[in-house]
Amino acid sequence: MADKTLADWQAAAKTLQIEGRAFIDGKYLDALSGKVRPTHNPATGEKLADVACCGPEDADRAVASARAAFDKGVWSGMAPIERKKVLVRWAELIERHADALALLECLDVGKPIADTTAVDVPSAVRTIRWSGEAIDKVYDEIPPTPADTLALIQRLPLGVVAAIVPWNFPLSTTAWKLAPSLATGNSVILKPASNTPLSAIRIAILATEAGLPDSVLQVLPGSGGSLGRHIALHMDIDGLTFTGSTPVGKQLMEYSGRSNLKRTFLELGGKGPNIVFADANLDKAATMAAAAVFYNSGQTCTAGTRLIVEKKIESEFIDRVVDQAKNWMPGNPLCPTTTMGPMIDEGQYRSVAEYVDIGRAEQADLVFGGGRVLADTGGYYHEPTIFAGTTNQMRIAREEIFGPVLSVMTFTDVDEAIRMANDSIYGLAGAVWSRDINIAHRVAAAVRVGTMGINNYFGGDITVPFGGFKQSGNGRDKSIHAFHDYTELKTTWIEFE
Ligand code: NAP
Repeated sequence: MADKTLADWQAAAKTLQIEGRAFIDGKYLDALSGKVRPTHNPATGEKLADVACCGPEDADRAVASARAAFDKGVWSGMAPIERKKVLVRWAELIERHADALALLECLDVGKPIADTTAVDVPSAVRTIRWSGEAIDKVYDEIPPTPADTLALIQRLPLGVVAAIVPWNFPLSTTAWKLAPSLATGNSVILKPASNTPLSAIRIAILATEAGLPDSVLQVLPGSGGSLGRHIALHMDIDGLTFTGSTPVGKQLMEYSGRSNLKRTFLELGGKGPNIVFADANLDKAATMAAAAVFYNSGQTCTAGTRLIVEKKIESEFIDRVVDQAKNWMPGNPLCPTTTMGPMIDEGQYRSVAEYVDIGRAEQADLVFGGGRVLADTGGYYHEPTIFAGTTNQMRIAREEIFGPVLSVMTFTDVDEAIRMANDSIYGLAGAVWSRDINIAHRVAAAVRVGTMGINNYFGGDITVPFGGFKQSGNGRDKSIHAFHDYTELKTTWIEFE
């Protein structure tokens, strides 16, 4: 990728083969109804492909074959060391197709090619390889029971697991779900987001090429309200792993209760507090304050959308962040120097524009951006946007905008900073910036989020768990901890005579 130009990527886009069918029983198939739904390039509005629009009948067929594969033990009964080999081979195949996948993701999501090549594809490869390599190194337990007994505590696969994922990081989120659920021996059905199904469809056949038995991984594109709901209410799906919005996550918990109590793990929205003390490295803090909210056009669950700044540096720090915002002006995602692409679609753009209007009406002070740019491209590009003079009670500070909009507010002491950070229904991610380790650690410990950075934002790796407190969810992706979401604990109690 390093030496590819805009012209190279544009030429490659013209010849890219795109598969839009569902992946069922190891083959690409149309939906039983024959229905399709188009997917578009958010940067231009052009149609990329017609994609199978699967419905409940496709789900029932996929669940039946997933169950049969699970019961036969073709994968669930395979020795962990053999499952490892398949997953590692799959990671290698994805790596071999890295450029084509990065291009596909760029076209389908509108993400800058610099990100899909450097972040999305490598993250998927690393996640699958790491989970594969880990699975034959996880031991079960023998507890300290009396000498005439022996108890075995094992982690066993749930059975048939469904994964429902959103459109903002389709490939990496898909990998976060598939790698641990497959590594632990489940049969898995993935429903990608309707806007961005292409990379998940593409990597499915690579899993088969790597040796994954048929029906162990199936990818069913289709609408959330119909196919997704049917999956969540299904009586023969044992586990549901979801990444998406908090309202849909709440519905899925209800569906679980109304159906078979399938284990339901949720990764949901956020409203990340990013707290900056006056003694911080302000250059680095300002650079990252902008990156934390403008990366991926702000369509990031962990985005640092609430910038909570010590009052005495308010105006100086806002100036620095405004300077940084200029580095995030949107551009053509296929251009290797572009840092920010378009919003995923018109609906998302309109929702962001509405929040900008709300911010103005709430009397927040719009100090940068606020409008649409590059309208002649056919894409919905929103400027990086900064509101100063925000209070934590305003809607722009409380609600997840999911766009490149930053709300800046101020505090005067440590307790107030912590109170403001925690005054949110969300608890996904945040950060604190200070050179005083005592203050930094006190704040980091007190802010109720799943991931907290000290003098960094977006810190993370496959080796550490990722997930939310409060209404940001209840599951954990990544690391060995993710294996827990896809397994049941089983005790076998043995008595000796
Ligand atoms: P969304 O509307 O909740 O959709 C997510 C997925 O759920 C899509 O596949 C969607 O299908 C499906 N869905 C929608 N309604 C459903 C229903 N009633 N039953 C079953 N499935 C249903 O979220 P989004 O707009 O795609 O993504 C943005 C949200 O995801 C934000 O809130 C963001 O914070 C969150 N997110 C969280 C994390 C995290 O790890 N915590 C990471 C990324 C994103 P359709 O595409 O067909 O609608």
